[in-house]
Amino acid sequence: MKYLLSLDTPLKHFLNITLEIEKVNMPYIDLKLPIWRPGRYEAANYSKNIQKISARDYEGNVLNYEKLNSSCWRIQTDGATTILIDYNYYAHQMDAGNSWYGEKQVYINFVNCMLYNEERLKGPCEVVLDIPKKYTVACGLEKTNTGLKAKNYYELADSPMIASDTLQHFTYKVGNTDFHIWIQGNHSLDSETLLNDFRKFSLYQIGVMGELPTKDYHFLFQITPNKFYHGVEHGNSTVICIGPGVDLKTKDLYSEFMGVSSHELFHAWNILKIRPKELMPYNFGQPAVFPTGFVAEGFTTYYGDLFLVQSGVFDKAWYFNELNKLFLRHFLNYGRLNNSVVDSSLDLWVDGYQPSAPHKKCSIYAEGAMVALTLDLMIRHLSNNKRSLDDVMRQLWNDFGKKEIGYSIEDIQQVCEQIYGASLKDYFQDHVYGTKPKEEIVQELIDTVGCILELTDSEQALERELGIKVTYDGTDCVVVLISPDSLGENIFSVKDKILKINGQDPTEEYAKNLKGGKWDFEIERNYELKKVEIETTGQSYWKKYSIIQKENPSQKQRDSFEKWLSVSFD
Ligand SMILES: [Zn+2]
Repeated sequence: MKYLLSLDTPLKHFLNITLEIEKVNMPYIDLKLPIWRPGRYEAANYSKNIQKISARDYEGNVLNYEKLNSSCWRIQTDGATTILIDYNYYAHQMDAGNSWYGEKQVYINFVNCMLYNEERLKGPCEVVLDIPKKYTVACGLEKTNTGLKAKNYYELADSPMIASDTLQHFTYKVGNTDFHIWIQGNHSLDSETLLNDFRKFSLYQIGVMGELPTKDYHFLFQITPNKFYHGVEHGNSTVICIGPGVDLKTKDLYSEFMGVSSHELFHAWNILKIRPKELMPYNFGQPAVFPTGFVAEGFTTYYGDLFLVQSGVFDKAWYFNELNKLFLRHFLNYGRLNNSVVDSSLDLWVDGYQPSAPHKKCSIYAEGAMVALTLDLMIRHLSNNKRSLDDVMRQLWNDFGKKEIGYSIEDIQQVCEQIYGASLKDYFQDHVYGTKPKEEIVQELIDTVGCILELTDSEQALERELGIKVTYDGTDCVVVLISPDSLGENIFSVKDKILKINGQDPTEEYAKNLKGGKWDFEIERNYELKKVEIETTGQSYWKKYSIIQKENPSQKQRDSFEKWLSVSFD
């Protein structure tokens, strides 16, 4: 399949694409557009961006077509052996998985917009780029004199491109691997610090896994002027959309920037190569449903941060802060008690990326990272620190990833058991297929590395005293979540607007610092006003767990801590 890509005017944001298919010997040919993209397992509806489409033969005679469904067109060939399909694509969505064409750049995720013929997925693809001559092209694909070429459609769909005359380019080498950092957009990063830190975590990850699956790797950064955080993984590249660019040198945003970069690089092994069997190969025309999202995203979330402390990019205080954020996402999500991490993986297509009923689901990212953390500490403890989850990942790479064999959830349990050296049947029943609370197992396991969980009250009075979480939508104070079995559960409803508390406006500052006692509320529910009186009981809701180091750990706990994080306990 050969694509010619040209541009409409930048303010219109349309890409013009002509797909040329040769050696057609059928009365008709079906062309499809992917309905989802790897990395986001939900309906994407890219076809909404195609404004018009037409077909012709090599001489320019119009060929008729009919639309079979929202993402499939059947072209009547009329005996032509070469057919050309002309269409345009509205590229006007900036994030890590979509496409954008504007005054400063052309940025394309080919999976969004390149039509394919099912029978030709495994054949070579070529993209001829008719874009401004002064543009530099950043892409993981092989470059040609006229554009880009891919071994097959899968590789094309997996290789986003940024073309612009304001791209910044940095390179570094680890072993035989060439790493490229491409930055589009204004930022405040210091390039020397950036390269040092990237070199550190890349070297460390390759050290743990033994080898990188590709000979080169490209970080494609879209730096936005507004607040943004989104990354998508690919075989030999990633797109990371992050902002605001001016804040990138601040500790908080730099930490997120490094966190997502380390996470996406680890995906080059975990999911791009070590891949669930249900995604082998990708079927772009069918919903992607698999039970092991917690391995793909959760293990990657755990390792993304862990590698940054182990490789010395950040210190242990930083890592504990990240672990505490994970604990908030885990322990304060009551959905974990209703649906397992496998349930949530299977439901990704339904509600993986959007709100569902309160306390319905757990996150494959956070819950999967809890599974990774507990398994890692279990393996380390039982093997006297001779083995770890690293061995599981290496074995998955050698037995599955490298051989391009998809894994099943049973394979994951089996490899974990092999490395652990004992049965994990109960663990998997309780914590992977089941919804057993993790308070106890986490306490036990972090004790093996000389740490304890500390429980503290919420600083927000409404959360602490009533069990209700609110957000501020402009000046409106709105109830968004209510703790099960809390005082607020029988008084408030999600979406209630709190108008007054004790006659006062419920500003963030006022609501946060309320003292317990008798409270009068004026609320608006379904456009009706209500008044309620509440007396707090002193019981505390939405309590927070955080990890802290013990004051007097044993030598063994101290050693285990140091082996786990590669930093000194003190
Ligand atoms: Zn990820």
